[in-house]
Amino acid sequence: MSNTPDTDEPEMTANAADAVLRTEGITKRFGGLTAVDDVDVEVHEGEIVGLIGPNGAGKSTLFNCITGTLTADEGRVTLQGQDVTDWPEYKIARAGLGRMFQETRIFGGMSVRKNLLLAAQEGGADIGGLLRRPDDSLLERTNELLEYVDLGGLADTRAGRLSFGQQKLIEFVMALMAEPELLLMDEPAGGINPSMLENLIDYIRTANDEEEATIFLIEHNMDFVMEIADRIYVLAHGERIAAGTPEEIQNDQRVIDAYLGRE
Ligand code: ADP
Ligand code: MG
Repeated sequence: MSNTPDTDEPEMTANAADAVLRTEGITKRFGGLTAVDDVDVEVHEGEIVGLIGPNGAGKSTLFNCITGTLTADEGRVTLQGQDVTDWPEYKIARAGLGRMFQETRIFGGMSVRKNLLLAAQEGGADIGGLLRRPDDSLLERTNELLEYVDLGGLADTRAGRLSFGQQKLIEFVMALMAEPELLLMDEPAGGINPSMLENLIDYIRTANDEEEATIFLIEHNMDFVMEIADRIYVLAHGERIAAGTPEEIQNDQRVIDAYLGRE
């Protein structure tokens, strides 16, 4: 397939065979609105790739088509070479796709640890049994992940008592419980205290390096995305208008006109 449907976009450097994720011609319509319009993206093993664009550009909808939350009207989604286009969401998750949502999905009345344990379970698991008698490897994993976001002391705290930023971090480690090959994050820095942003960048980098999770993230905070992403895709009105390194994106006139110029 061609990586360069538009004229002056840079060639992607990595071999297409390394693609953990590939979308080809993804199109999603809501009534008369084309929310995602013929979008190709590729995310290669080990990369951190950003997805940016104005509000309503179709970013979350593209993610939903990748995760199987929505079914695309046209196009194809491939995960590690496997066509998952028509797969149900749970099966795509089991194939190695993790996700962190824009809004938090934590059970506030349960302990942090139980939230993490629930995140690790697969469809059809005995949830009651899992929470009463979690196996040692799962418990170890919860401890390890909580340590790694510096929240080791909060395992037995009710999740609802945590600050918003702490809850976002819990969401992040919940998404890592299942050891995803690819982690999709929808605005991880959204609403986070600016003093925590550098920590969040470190945690995401650690997930990328040590957990070997390839990362594809939507983010509104430009400083954040420019610092963390190896490459960036830009959507506007559902269409992919640019792709490149952070530097290329910051200097792309189409991107400046459609997005950056009005921030
Ligand atoms: P972004 O995440 O880039 O802000 P979205 O993907 O959420 O954008 O939305 C893209 C467009 O699709 C917007 O115009 C939005 O109003 C519309 N949209 C998103 N989800 C739905 C839906 N379930 N039904 C109808 N319209 C939707
Ligand atoms: Mg969105």
